[in-house]
Amino acid sequence: MSAITTVLVTGGSRGIGRAICLKMAALGHYVLVNYKGNKVAAEETLAAVKAAGGDGELLPFDVSDGPDVKRALGGWIEAHPEKPIGVLVNNAGIKDDTLLMWMKDEQWSQVRGTSLDGFFYVTREVLNGMLLRKAGRIINVVSLSGLKGMAGQTNYSAAKAGVIGATKALAQEIAKRNITVNAVAPGFIQTDMTSDLNEKELKAMIPANRFGKPEEVAHAVAFFASPESGYITGTVLSVNGGLYT
Ligand code: NAP
Repeated sequence: MSAITTVLVTGGSRGIGRAICLKMAALGHYVLVNYKGNKVAAEETLAAVKAAGGDGELLPFDVSDGPDVKRALGGWIEAHPEKPIGVLVNNAGIKDDTLLMWMKDEQWSQVRGTSLDGFFYVTREVLNGMLLRKAGRIINVVSLSGLKGMAGQTNYSAAKAGVIGATKALAQEIAKRNITVNAVAPGFIQTDMTSDLNEKELKAMIPANRFGKPEEVAHAVAFFASPESGYITGTVLSVNGGLYT
């Protein structure tokens, strides 16, 4: 993998994904900012990338929609042979918490669809080029919830645990091709996703006594993305202030 490459960040418009876009741009990479519907936020991310001296473009598609991924991402890859994607960050994710006994079919399928199906559709689209070039980094943003399990999040815990299993399996499939696959598992991070939570109450159970920042997750992603991390694959790195399972 060359030091400077094209990086695709799914869910790059807000929160952790935005911080990853900025980190990757600061490292000199060309950043593809994926998002689902929030164009204003995605444009803000791209403007911040450019303001910091980086470069990139928006690439909207719904990661959970196989044909949409093929059309938008497959089409982009075909049209840009000069910008091969060397780093893929599967970051897009949603939560929709409720107890299992009250969970509706859509709550199960949409949460699973975004994290787990999204991983599958997007990775399959990007992987062929990485295999041909015998180089690449795939980093999946999972969750403490997928390691530990959290009451009220059976859909989310199952989806993230699924991505952790897929990370380990795919790592073994493609290690010989010089492509690594790793996961970063955040605990509580200050983003829109956690804005409904009471940090003052919850921080008492976190050894670091605070929620994390998106930039602290982005740092872990950059570690796996680095050319020097080529012998690290199939691992899950927790970024959770000491809140272990
Ligand atoms: P966030 O602030 O809610 O942002 C979610 C991002 O995902 C947005 O960019 C959103 O795009 C995008 N997205 C959602 N559904 C999508 C879809 N179907 N296709 C494409 N993009 C989609 O969330 P966050 O807190 O930054 O979370 C980022 C990742 O970290 C997620 O995978 C989440 O599960 C994981 N995580 C977060 C925490 C935490 O405490 N925040 C903890 C552990 C793990 P739009 O702007 O277009 O909606």
